[in-house]
Amino acid sequence: MNAKIFIVEDEKSIITLIKYNLEKEGYKVSSSENGEEALKEIKESAPDLVLLDWMLPNLSGIEICKQLKKSAQYKSIPIIMLTAKGEEEDKVRGLNVGADDYVTKPFSYPELLARIEALLRRSKPSVAQDVISFEDLKIDRITRRVYRGKKEISLGPTEYNLLDFFIKNPKRVYSREQLLENVWGNDINVESRTVDVHIRRLRQAINIAGSKELIRTVRSAGYSLD
Ligand code: CA
Repeated sequence: MNAKIFIVEDEKSIITLIKYNLEKEGYKVSSSENGEEALKEIKESAPDLVLLDWMLPNLSGIEICKQLKKSAQYKSIPIIMLTAKGEEEDKVRGLNVGADDYVTKPFSYPELLARIEALLRRSKPSVAQDVISFEDLKIDRITRRVYRGKKEISLGPTEYNLLDFFIKNPKRVYSREQLLENVWGNDINVESRTVDVHIRRLRQAINIAGSKELIRTVRSAGYSLD
């Protein structure tokens, strides 16, 4: 689960705490303490979910929410408002301008996490779903089992990660460099030829007799699940 979460909050200690915990869960976390900058950064980075504080310098949380939700391009980004205790009116106003959920401060971390996961499941199934499929391919991300039709397929860890990435982003062409970055991670020194080797293994594993070729090679561009 590598969903990107953006936190807008002017209290550093809250950012630190949420960030630490979410990163432990495998989320990618960015943050901003300033409303105006936050809005700009959210538009640039298109996160999968935004945690949005109500009271902020420069631009209020409610204003940020309003602006994102009225934009065709950004309105699908789910927003959880962080509201101070007892401000019932704020919650109502937050939901009125399109916030998807709210959490009252001080909140317990498990509660926040549960809200985040529930919202991601609703809004972005490919990020949060436990079982994802494409045509007759199916991945169970809890047990890490892979099936083609009814047949279970055995994959090495890299082939599994490759397939997991493709199945979350089907029909898009990725260059070897993009695959290295997304599947192997930036910090590992791997040659782009390595990608070809693992693609070949993945193909061999998922092509069972009589089945359709699902990984397409796009000349001088890369690969796609198609
Ligand atoms: Ca605040």
